[in-house]
Order: sequence, then structure tokens, then C-alpha cells
Amino acid sequence: MECAFANAKAINFNSQLPFDDNQKKPRAKRMGTIYEINAFLKELLDPFEMADVALNGIQVENEGIISKIAFAVDASFDAIERARAENCNLLIVHHGFFWGKVIPITGNFRKRIRTMLTHNIGLIAYHLPLDAHPQYGNNSQLLRTITNQPLVPFGKSKTTTIGFMTTLAEPLKLDTIISRINAGNPTWPQVILPFGTTHVRTIAAVSGSGANTIDEAIEKNIDLLITGEAPHHLYHTAKEAGINVLSAGHYFTETFGVKALMEPIKKQFNVETLFFDIPTGL
Ligand SMILES: [Zn+2]
Repeated sequence: MECAFANAKAINFNSQLPFDDNQKKPRAKRMGTIYEINAFLKELLDPFEMADVALNGIQVENEGIISKIAFAVDASFDAIERARAENCNLLIVHHGFFWGKVIPITGNFRKRIRTMLTHNIGLIAYHLPLDAHPQYGNNSQLLRTITNQPLVPFGKSKTTTIGFMTTLAEPLKLDTIISRINAGNPTWPQVILPFGTTHVRTIAAVSGSGANTIDEAIEKNIDLLITGEAPHHLYHTAKEAGINVLSAGHYFTETFGVKALMEPIKKQFNVETLFFDIPTGL
């Protein structure tokens, strides 16, 4: 199976930890500019192999040392305004501004850019690398709320595999799985298509608009596909194939990755971090 990381260089996670070589005492945390923080994220997330329409990395440059970082799913005006109100000088998101098209700086977009430039707020965005990462990605993090079993790459999006699948040690009921994902977050939207086995053993997760991986899920005998959005045609496809689908919201399934980045950044840099929960209900 194709793996997004097959050709990527191995990441030495130990090198990310803030310890000296002798591993005895914590190393002083670094001060960092937007370029230094982005260099760290680039090494961590390894975006180089990704066929992504989104621009990964720095999207809006700013000046000086970063002292307070806001994390959010979307680079919305709400998130930018909150970053300004909280005196954050960097916003790190999953959905940034640039999606492979030339866009003029007009209207709402100009308002966002103006606020960022006026208040010296930088923007870093990581899209598919933050879905696909085996440790910090949306899909691995989501599956880790359910099980600690090994994860196998799943969910081909063009040439890149962005999700994961796993096989539970013991089958679980759908309700149990949902309550594990639910922990601490009881309000996310749910569309459940319960057309498969009542005792789920194999689960695949592809966050956001990952419903188009249903054919791969059927082919691989997955008992439950977890994704973000549910398009209309999913109903009959799932029913006819006898597979369970849980659509947990584009927003909710993509909160996991940005949240997971907070810890490694805090270990490495002398910064405050905040997560802005701005749910869209979609
Ligand atoms: Zn998305």
C-alpha cells in the first residue's frame, strides 16, 4: 500500500525533546521567530512528499520573536480577532488562506490580512501533512482516542495517503466507540449510518472531506469508516455495501492535529499557547 511517508526521511522524535544529550537536565527553551518555528514544524511534519493544493508553511510573515501562539482549525476573521485580543503574534491553523488559486486581496480577505499586518500577527498553515502525520495528524490522533492498536496508512487522496486504519483487539459496539471519541467533547455533530456489523473490529479514519474513501473502506472490509462530512450519496453506498459510517463533522475531526502540535512546540520554544475552539457545526 502506498504510504505518504514511505519516501520521507525518518523523523527522530527524540531530537524534538528539550533535553541535552546526556538526557539529565532540561535544555533551556529557545526563543523563535516565525521562520524558526516553521523550520521546526517542517521537520516535524515533513510536508515535502505531499501533493497538496494548499500552501503549507508560512502564509503571512511577521516580525520579531514569537511569544504567544494561537492554534485554530480555520484562519477565519474570528480566529484572527481573538489572536489580536489575546496578544498572540502567531496563528497556526489547518485551513489557511491559499488553496492553489490566485486570489485578490479584497473584501473579507483584505480585512483578515489588514488585521494581521496591523497587529503583526503571522500565519502558518499545515493542511494534508497535518491530516496524515502518524503521530500528530488528525486521523492518528482521532483513532488514538479509541485504541492503542497499530495504525496502518489508509485513505488515498490523489497520490497521497492521508488517513489510517486499525484493527481492535476486541470488537466494540458503535456506541462505545462514539463515547470514547466523545470524551470531553459531547457537542460535535454526528451522522451515523449504522449499516454494518454491530461489533466493530476494523476502523478507518479520514478527516474532513474523506467520505470519498468509502470504496477503499469497502474493498478493505472496514467495519466502520469515520470521516468529517457526509455527502448525500454516502447513504445508499454505505447501505448497499453493509458498512458503518460515522460522520463527525469536518471541523471536529480536524481539531485533533492542531491541538497535538501545541505540546512539541511548547517543549521546544519559550512561548505561551492557546487553542481557539471556534466550531462551525459542519
Ligand atoms: Zn479540512
